[in-house]
Amino acid sequence: MMQLFMPLNFLGFVYREIRGALANIERMFSLLDRQPLINDLPTATTPSITKGALKFEGVSFSYGERQILKAIDFELKPGQKVAIVGDSGAGKSTIVKLLFRFYDTNQGSIFIDGHDISAMTQDALRSAIAIVPQDTVLFNDSLLENIRYANPNASDEEVNAAIEMAHLSAFVKQLELGWHTKVGERGLKLSGGEKQRVAIARAILKGSPLLIFDEATSSLDSHSEKAILTALKEMTQGHTSLVIAHRLSTIVDADQILVLSKGSIVERGTHDELIIQQGLYQKLWTVQHQQS
Ligand code: ATP
Repeated sequence: MMQLFMPLNFLGFVYREIRGALANIERMFSLLDRQPLINDLPTATTPSITKGALKFEGVSFSYGERQILKAIDFELKPGQKVAIVGDSGAGKSTIVKLLFRFYDTNQGSIFIDGHDISAMTQDALRSAIAIVPQDTVLFNDSLLENIRYANPNASDEEVNAAIEMAHLSAFVKQLELGWHTKVGERGLKLSGGEKQRVAIARAILKGSPLLIFDEATSSLDSHSEKAILTALKEMTQGHTSLVIAHRLSTIVDADQILVLSKGSIVERGTHDELIIQQGLYQKLWTVQHQQS
């Protein structure tokens, strides 16, 4: 019986994961590097998350023996924008992975609207968060369907508003078939910047209270960069948002900037406060401005 139970149990798991993943492509791809697997507690709750307030309290995390995050503490109040900057490998994406609960913390807790994320269902957690990932996956379908999938129940007006806000309209007007143009492997190839704007439209349409923007590391042409910057500003306006930034010009308006170095927050403050401190942020800022 046990011999039968294990494979059946595993198949059941795979089925549940695939079904869930189809509803959320970001989740499907994140599953690929999701180890160990996290299961909902039998007592997991589905609290109503409306503000997206976020709190990391003493969060430490290791991949195996290697400690990546050390005693991370920060708070993101409703409507605020918090940015995380730091060298490559500092642990920025790991913070987002813990927030999505691809891994559990080793120490400390993460709260959304005051609810410990380890005590809620993963579905409840993930519907509370919309992410614009670094690399956006597009289906072999029309541009419109690629955006609408984020919220199949959205009205045409809502889809159009998201498209406008993501600054995609001008780009689409140049296409012969407009919104019905097929994209993906066998269709139109979008640039990195255009893809990221599709992801912005999806995130807006998903309508989650907490927005995560993971800025692409790859360089964009200046037109794409400007369009993304404007779209990002509009998207985060009045929304609770966490931005992982590589270009500091993206986050000068953030309510709080956290500077991460080797897994610890070494500086925090607004852009102006951090420039005055003349620490790591000021150095990063100077280097980026010499390059541009
Ligand atoms: P970047 O700016 O280059 O995206 P980051 O600050 O986001 O970097 P993370 O991706 O959080 O950095 O990685 C932090 C460290 O953890 C890196 O040294 C990385 O090699 C390591 N790391 C990331 N994912 C894993 C994993 N699945 N297993 C083991 N180590 C990992």
